[in-house]
Amino acid sequence: MANVVKGEQLYEGKAKKVYATNDPDLVIVDYKDDATAFNGEKKGTIVGKGVINNRMTNFMFKKLEEAGVPTHLVEELSERETLVKKVSIVPLEVIIRNVAAGSFSKRMGVPEGKELLTPILEFSYKNDDLGDPFINDYYALALGLATKEEIDTIAKYAFAVNDFMVKFFKGVGVDLIDFKIEFGRTSDGTIILADEISPDTCRFWDSKTHEKLDKDRFRRDMGGVEDAYQEMMKRVLGE
Ligand code: UDP
Repeated sequence: MANVVKGEQLYEGKAKKVYATNDPDLVIVDYKDDATAFNGEKKGTIVGKGVINNRMTNFMFKKLEEAGVPTHLVEELSERETLVKKVSIVPLEVIIRNVAAGSFSKRMGVPEGKELLTPILEFSYKNDDLGDPFINDYYALALGLATKEEIDTIAKYAFAVNDFMVKFFKGVGVDLIDFKIEFGRTSDGTIILADEISPDTCRFWDSKTHEKLDKDRFRRDMGGVEDAYQEMMKRVLGE
């Protein structure tokens, strides 16, 4: 890390800013407390979220690397900042579901909390103007969003992430209901896990009480949002 210098801001998203560095293959992500839902229609702040999401993502990415899933993680620089490999994001929201919830429950008429017989892998086209529409492999291929080989790699990694995370979270008394991940291509075209894994992007329910410990508390105005994020931080990082 010693020689990396933070450069100009390249991009500001809903939850993170991205900065260039003096190394063309590395960028710095800076996690904000800003929260949005429903494609940016609902806006707010979750105090301390940036710190929690940065640290939880890095913790999970380190474990996932050990489990054989390559990630963009290079080094945590501060509470909110992490040095990562520069990638171009594959414009797919890759969702895995273990238990029915959210848009799946609405679309399929299946009550929230119903366990699925097998995990579901689902893609959305990452496009805010269109509201991230649900697509399948054929759409992705036909629109040139990813190649067949890339889709196969992404699916393999996504299920490996799920296998690891279901067990890990069970160990801390949390059911992993569903989550969204994103992948990127490095400068040499390698597919690696990018973006984040946090209460913003996963549904976490307490295994015993089924209390929600994730962003649904913000989306659904349930209160106790900060406490839920802190509780997840405590369970995952022990603090
Ligand atoms: N998700 C996300 N970003 C999105 C859409 C979904 O991180 O733009 C996550 C969400 O937190 C949940 C999973 O993906 O853990 C499945 O979300 P769903 O499709 O049910 O959509 P939602 O009900 O959140 O709109």
